[in-house]
Amino acid sequence: MRAHVAKDYYGILGVAKDATPDDLKKAYRKLAREFHPDVNPSPEAQEKFKEINAAFEVLSDPQKRQIVDLGGDPLAPGGGGGAGAGGAGPFMDFQDIMDAFFGASGPMGAGPRRGPRSRVRPGSDAILRLDLDLEEAAFGLESPITVDTATVCGTCEGSGAAAGSAPVTCDTCEGSGEVQSVQRTILGQMVTSRPCATCSGFGTVIPNPCPKCAGDGRVRSRRTLTVKIPAGVEDGMRIRLAGQGEVGPGGGPAGDLYVEIHERPHDVFTRKGDDLHCKIKVPMTAAALGTNLTLKTLDGEESVDVNPGTQPGSTLRVRGKGVPRLRGGGARGDLFVHLDVRTPTKLDAEQGELLQKLAQLRDEEIVEVKGGGGFFSRMRDAFNGHA
Ligand SMILES: [Zn+2]
Ligand SMILES: [Zn+2]
Repeated sequence: MRAHVAKDYYGILGVAKDATPDDLKKAYRKLAREFHPDVNPSPEAQEKFKEINAAFEVLSDPQKRQIVDLGGDPLAPGGGGGAGAGGAGPFMDFQDIMDAFFGASGPMGAGPRRGPRSRVRPGSDAILRLDLDLEEAAFGLESPITVDTATVCGTCEGSGAAAGSAPVTCDTCEGSGEVQSVQRTILGQMVTSRPCATCSGFGTVIPNPCPKCAGDGRVRSRRTLTVKIPAGVEDGMRIRLAGQGEVGPGGGPAGDLYVEIHERPHDVFTRKGDDLHCKIKVPMTAAALGTNLTLKTLDGEESVDVNPGTQPGSTLRVRGKGVPRLRGGGARGDLFVHLDVRTPTKLDAEQGELLQKLAQLRDEEIVEVKGGGGFFSRMRDAFNGHA
């Protein structure tokens, strides 16, 4: 058998050796908010939460606590104090934990979930829109954001009760949170129950609500956070900031904050996934003769060759000058340059003559068609000016 080292239950809860039951509850509640699997799904948090549960169970039981104070471990095999639920078995639902503290459902874990509803509810998620330029979305940045959400009321720490007071059992429903009424119907007597109107189903009322939050346990506050935008994000993507959303009623655990990316249109580039597209006007002569263009890319200027004889609608592909792939380890999309070959208009006399000359030299006076008959032959006839 393995030797069992006595655990530092006080240390796990972060309380002093002379902690009162109230201190224990406060510490436990704070840690449960942080590590309960419903709130924090990581395996480490689960492990931690098991420990916290065990520590709370041990220290809130006077007999077990005494064993701890004498240097023993009530949860050790054969360590006395009986086998508790500490550490083993499924976790209590987050709601049950909150109910155990704030509801009227009695000792922890007792009975099925019936009766009054808890004042403590998980908070909802919040969403915030962040407008980015293409360059910012492409290369990422750290951006300050101003968040306006419900936060735990600092005055009552979420309980909703004014200092020195506490919620008391509702007289109307005697703490059950519901009232029953009997109705006579043609089918006989029917018992119906509905939430108690006096306490809104909570089973308790707050006679002295906290003046700061009016009993809600939370207040709205504005704060500035820094959000890290990774390189390669796209329009419509959401970045999740865990636990930065709205705090729930009764100071319940906060939801998440989602930062939704909106990419502003760029005046040169159109983005398709990780690729960028742009359009460049090339004079017909340059397309025919070939040229060298200096392009502005996300990374600065880039020189590209347009081959002689480039046709309208041609595309040049500049590899690796697109947008970095999100979590792509430095891989990047490409830049596609669509060449818009422009035919000259408004030729003056000399320019016209030059082009005429060119056409003659290239034997191009007649529109070249392949095959005969049908549409093309009619077009040729039209060009030649006779039927
Ligand atoms: Zn308050
Ligand atoms: Zn009531």
